[in-house]
Amino acid sequence: MAEHILTFDVEYWYQGFVQRNLDGWQRYPPRDKESIEKIVGLLEEFNVRATFFVLGKFAERYPNIVRLLASAGHEIGTHGYGHYAITAQSREGFREDLHRSISILENIIGEKVIGHRAARWSMSREALWAVEIMLSEGIQYDSSVFPTQIHSYGLRQAPTEPFLLELSSGVSILEFPAQVLTLGFLRIPAAGGFYMRVLPGLFSRWALRQSDRRGVHGMVYLHPYDLDSDTPRLSVPLSFRVVRYHNLKKTLPLLRAMMKEFHFCSVRKVLGEPGFNVPSQNIS
Ligand SMILES: [Zn+2]
Repeated sequence: MAEHILTFDVEYWYQGFVQRNLDGWQRYPPRDKESIEKIVGLLEEFNVRATFFVLGKFAERYPNIVRLLASAGHEIGTHGYGHYAITAQSREGFREDLHRSISILENIIGEKVIGHRAARWSMSREALWAVEIMLSEGIQYDSSVFPTQIHSYGLRQAPTEPFLLELSSGVSILEFPAQVLTLGFLRIPAAGGFYMRVLPGLFSRWALRQSDRRGVHGMVYLHPYDLDSDTPRLSVPLSFRVVRYHNLKKTLPLLRAMMKEFHFCSVRKVLGEPGFNVPSQNIS
């Protein structure tokens, strides 16, 4: 049975509010440190080392949290600096944002950062130009593809397992796509964040069992806030309320159940496996 990959996107608990220009969160004391410490404790309990894609802006404010994660043996990747979708930036803007986040993180941990996850799963067809920039900034793998079509994001033609994303220009990068549950022609986002809270828990486990059967690495992604069920409930528009607050109480028990059933590790660990090899796919 292949080990599956466990990842966290580390950003402020109020990141979603900032992006939607919603106020109110400023009245509350910071809660990121506590929620991340709980995650570190949980991973310790199961002896799991995960990958944390940390936002540069967050790392700047909380270098000690990044140090804590690294010293607990977790991999630190970058989630960019300012949390912009790739396509919301110019090429130069993307490079600056990425470069800035990498130098902040590397300065804190004293180690190379080799993994990247774009904000909002924004590695779409229109964002493929970002691959060359990532490579030139020292990134060795990306994990920003959702291999299905979901309103604003997704790359339906991407494989549903780790693959080498090749461009016609000849450059390529290792890609670790988000987990989907495959049902006939349907690809259901099943093992991360909001989807883990809104869909029956069985779906997440079923998706990973599918990966097991195929002998490939599955991948779970979460945000610290997905596990923070005591988070302040602010009055926000309905659509955001559902995404942000629905079923927060469910995530922790579900993650625990999954950690009992499956073995999880970081992306870096998978890269180091002898004979690790992935199919390639030309996307452009
Ligand atoms: Zn994010």
